[in-house]
Amino acid sequence: MDLYEYQAKELFAAHGVPVLPGRTVETPEEAGAAAAELGTAVVVKAQVKTGGRGKAGGVKLAQTPEEAKEKAAAILGMDIKGHTVHQVLVTEASDIAEEYYFSFLLDRSNRTFLAMCSAEGGMEIEQLAVERPEALARVPVDPIAGVDRAKAADIVAQAKIPAAVADQAADVIVKLWETFVSEDATLVEVNPLVRDPQDKILALDGKVTLDDNAAFRHPGHADLVDQRTEDPLEAKAKAKDLNYVKLDGEVGIIGNGAGLVMSTLDVVAYAGERH
Ligand code: GDP
Ligand code: MN
Repeated sequence: MDLYEYQAKELFAAHGVPVLPGRTVETPEEAGAAAAELGTAVVVKAQVKTGGRGKAGGVKLAQTPEEAKEKAAAILGMDIKGHTVHQVLVTEASDIAEEYYFSFLLDRSNRTFLAMCSAEGGMEIEQLAVERPEALARVPVDPIAGVDRAKAADIVAQAKIPAAVADQAADVIVKLWETFVSEDATLVEVNPLVRDPQDKILALDGKVTLDDNAAFRHPGHADLVDQRTEDPLEAKAKAKDLNYVKLDGEVGIIGNGAGLVMSTLDVVAYAGERH
């Protein structure tokens, strides 16, 4: 299950990763009220489970509560890559000195975990990965050894994070590893991980994918499901403990176990070729 940015940041905060305070709202009026409550300049951010919100116009700075209301009105209802914006995060705005990139992920093809880190984060990270792969450090992480201070310092050094914030960045990376492990995530990504003008490190964005196979160990994770975007039939099947996959049209598959469901999918797909 992918989480919304605000949910990812709540997990981060619970594990000591520095984030700025904020609140999610569903109307422009509430956005204005949230900005007034924070009492600072704010950023209004579309909460949709896709990247590139900034480029799509789904992330806007607002200096006053009135402006926050206007920005929220513009963002709510917006379509970002096929995702309708039902809620926005109103969060304290930060000044940015530098933007870094950081992620932990499950590297299935190499049968390990991987840390990826760069001193050149921000919205162009995909381009950076292709054009200047040497600027994106890729550090395998042994699942048993995990990430302690020394390992985190190694990742930070390979990513060429400036010395002035290296210790702090390493601290944050250890906490992100704790988040990754204790929440049973398959992805934890922070882009941008920011250095503010006071040299404080902050997670300004957050993307987390939780491993559904570990859901039984985390009763709290069920609360993170957004019923609005769940397919109603799939939700009904889940409630009855069925392995159900909805296909196009009027076809769906119920099977005992994931393997059988996959084989059945193939059989149905072959049968469908004839039509
Ligand atoms: P994404 O485009 O979906 O990844 O959304 P992000 O949360 O990463 O925001 C996109 C960009 O907006 C970031 O890379 C920042 O440059 C900018 N941004 C986000 N929050 C703030 C903030 O508090 N202050 C400033 N100045 N810029 C921000
Ligand atoms: Mn981002």
